[in-house]
Amino acid sequence: MKKVLVTGGTGLVGKALEAVIKNHAPTDEEWYFAGSKDADLTNLAATQALFAREKPTHVIHLAAMVGGLFHNMNNNLDFLRNNLLINDNVLQTAHEQGCIKVVSCLSTCIFPDKTIYPIDETMVHNGPPHPSNYGYSYAKRLIDVQNHAYHDKYGRQYTSVIPCNIFGPHDNYKPESDVPESEKVFTVFGSGKPLRQFVYSLDLAELMIWVLRSYDSVEPIILSVDEAQEVTIYEVAQAIAKAFDFKGKLVCDTSKADGQYKKTASNAKLRSLLPDFAFTEFETAIETSVRWYKDNYDHARK
Ligand code: NDP
Repeated sequence: MKKVLVTGGTGLVGKALEAVIKNHAPTDEEWYFAGSKDADLTNLAATQALFAREKPTHVIHLAAMVGGLFHNMNNNLDFLRNNLLINDNVLQTAHEQGCIKVVSCLSTCIFPDKTIYPIDETMVHNGPPHPSNYGYSYAKRLIDVQNHAYHDKYGRQYTSVIPCNIFGPHDNYKPESDVPESEKVFTVFGSGKPLRQFVYSLDLAELMIWVLRSYDSVEPIILSVDEAQEVTIYEVAQAIAKAFDFKGKLVCDTSKADGQYKKTASNAKLRSLLPDFAFTEFETAIETSVRWYKDNYDHARK
């Protein structure tokens, strides 16, 4: 019997995993989705108590201080320290309690700022990250370093996935991801020109479950849509406006920062292992997410 503990189980990705697991829960797996109310993972004793209570054999480690560009730019120290603490507490406690496998989450935004494209898994440590989010990025990069160190010293199979930008039901709709409603103007922060790859949270959840069960390497793996599915921020805004049936004007506020212009990632490694995985079509996934936001407006994070 596998016991899977999901840290960050109440967030965007955690809720998607829960939805996928509920649909086809195998009989030899029991899952527990922990939020910060279960344990503050910046605290070692609380982390140990959670693991002692749940006795996981496997861990999907999603818990993190996560924020958009503007939150990161002003809080690099907090992003660095909180994420370093959370990651060290979770990995060391998992090791001490004998967990067989831990799948942690990096992000394509932690890759070097100056790089060649497409980015691949071998480039995580090749140079400084974008200055806007160096705290978050270095904390995340150290998960990969730590995974290798647990493997070298103890033979542990602790690995990591590298998702591109994620969206879906239960997202955090705070002001920097402006959502149009009845207003006449929908403001896009920045020029709208930067390019991004977006993965739907439910697709990512399926891929992470596959990683947990079938991907046996310490080396990280990029979980992203194909390079051809990259879109501009303006195109994302258009898709959101369409899903809201918004008839007003889309305006780019160029006084706001753009962040990294692009961070095109290659999913060739994923495709070599899972050639037929079908990602949900972008507009369909946006429509479903917008419908969820409208239906859950009162308790959505915003
Ligand atoms: P969310 O912000 O939606 O959720 C964060 C989760 O972490 C919540 O369950 C939260 O618990 C938990 N958490 C935060 N701080 C603590 C703490 N001190 N102790 C215990 N739990 C804590 O994040 P996402 O689902 O979007 O992200 C999941 C993972 O994916 C993260 O590791 C993130 O870095 C990574 N990622 C995210 C991307 C994105 O676009 N969103 C892109 C690429 C990677 P609670 O809500 O109960 O307080």
